[in-house]
Amino acid sequence: MDTLYHFIFALIGGYVFVKATRYEIKFRVLVLLALISEFPDLSHLAGDLSLLHNIFVFIPLLGIYIHQRRKENTKIYVVILMLMVYGHLLSDMIFGMGIPLFYPLSDKMYLLPQIGLCMYDSTLPKIMYGPDLVECFFTTHGLALALYFGVIGGLSVCLSRR
Ligand SMILES: [Zn+2]
Repeated sequence: MDTLYHFIFALIGGYVFVKATRYEIKFRVLVLLALISEFPDLSHLAGDLSLLHNIFVFIPLLGIYIHQRRKENTKIYVVILMLMVYGHLLSDMIFGMGIPLFYPLSDKMYLLPQIGLCMYDSTLPKIMYGPDLVECFFTTHGLALALYFGVIGGLSVCLSRR
């Protein structure tokens, strides 16, 4: 996925999370976190997508989260950043070659199911396969949105300040 898509995806996700949880976080901080969440794509500079496109990138972020017991703002920034990075990895699994989710344990590339529920004629909707499905009830793109905002919604309920 391209850099602008990642940025907008992250920013919207962060904004929704902040509004849902009622944390008072400035928009410019969200912009900064959305920019930082692009860091997996630094692995392209090294010529190896695997380096930062795997679930183990969350380990240092979890470490920061765990060691910030007293600074609530830092903790919530890390949660937002993790959500944004999750969105980054998820969107890189919508199409293309996918990402090596469990690298360095495995080189296997993971892609969201290239599937859709589509109706192109007057018959019943059919399950169809492929990356270029359009005019469907759902496709991989919708699935990615549901997975992203589903997690954001779930975390918002758990971490809400109400
Ligand atoms: Zn990426």
